[in-house]
Amino acid sequence: MSSHTRGRIACLNGTKNVELKEFDVPSPDPDAIVTEIVRANVCGSELHMWRGGHPHINDGPLGHEGLCRIVDLGENVTTDNAGRPVEEGDLIVPTYFAICEACPRCGAGEFRLCEHAYDYWSQSADTHPHFHGTFASHYYVYPEQFFYKVSPDVPEGPAASANCALAQVLGGLDKAEVGWGDTVVVQGAGGLGLNAVAAATERGAETIVIDGVADRLDLAERFGADHTVDLRTYDSVEERADRVRELTDGQGADVGVEVAGVPEAFAEGIELLRPGGRYLEMGNVIPGHTTEFDPGAMTRKSINVVSVMRYDPWYLRTALDFLRETADDYPFDELVGEGFALDDVDAAIRRSDERDVARASLVPE
Ligand SMILES: [Zn+2]
Ligand SMILES: [Zn+2]
Repeated sequence: MSSHTRGRIACLNGTKNVELKEFDVPSPDPDAIVTEIVRANVCGSELHMWRGGHPHINDGPLGHEGLCRIVDLGENVTTDNAGRPVEEGDLIVPTYFAICEACPRCGAGEFRLCEHAYDYWSQSADTHPHFHGTFASHYYVYPEQFFYKVSPDVPEGPAASANCALAQVLGGLDKAEVGWGDTVVVQGAGGLGLNAVAAATERGAETIVIDGVADRLDLAERFGADHTVDLRTYDSVEERADRVRELTDGQGADVGVEVAGVPEAFAEGIELLRPGGRYLEMGNVIPGHTTEFDPGAMTRKSINVVSVMRYDPWYLRTALDFLRETADDYPFDELVGEGFALDDVDAAIRRSDERDVARASLVPE
């Protein structure tokens, strides 16, 4: 590649202020890859940052989900992290976080908790190699990021969010040991929730979805939900807990999945479970938002709470395999909304924040 190719990247410059910066596209180090962004989705995390509410990243490059095309392969890179050969022109999806393989958590095999997860993403775009975020024309994949080749039969839209919601959900459901015959109650029918319903359904679980928006409940059914509970009909915790017991032979659900992202959902979730149930907390990710909680009620029921942040990197491979197998069975395409050019990145974020578009996507060309 010519060293004079220029690329652009969207950066946050203080709260609600996005600017596009332009840099020379770098050559990759021997173990790194330079890619072009094919599609990058606007996720809730970018909205948190844009509003100034992210605990770690409040300025610098935006974007973490993305489908990438290899344009310049470091000389030592011959395969993806599944050992499949890669070459320039291939589509790949990388993890959005780094795995240093040298910190205490990596040393214990807990790669999802790497202490250096955001070392690159949180760097300013002014720092070489500049392209640390996916709201950009190009994206630099560091040696510490796992990446997997995307087979051509995986649809582009879902592939572009595989490294966030779907990989997260697959890792989480494993931690909560969701399996055949379980009844799983999913709180919230957003991106994480719908992916969770499809993934739990494929594992042979029966699913109950709670949400208060008709379109989202309808979509949940098409993602495999066996039952839905409308917050507008069942408008108290007691009524919802009664309804879940009614649907589970008076027992309560085996597993609860919190993906509503509101603190009150955590307290409610415990009420929806049977004694000995498991509870997976994934939706509340911003510290400092509290809720009233009755720990004694949880202990009396001996609920096993599992909370997860990020995922072990091989779940990204599982996510892409999952999409290849099931893309025709669930309306994954409907999770990808309107496409925006990179020049319109501000509108893409603003309209996502106003919930004017369900899920905006940047399509830099
Ligand atoms: Zn995301
Ligand atoms: Zn590490």
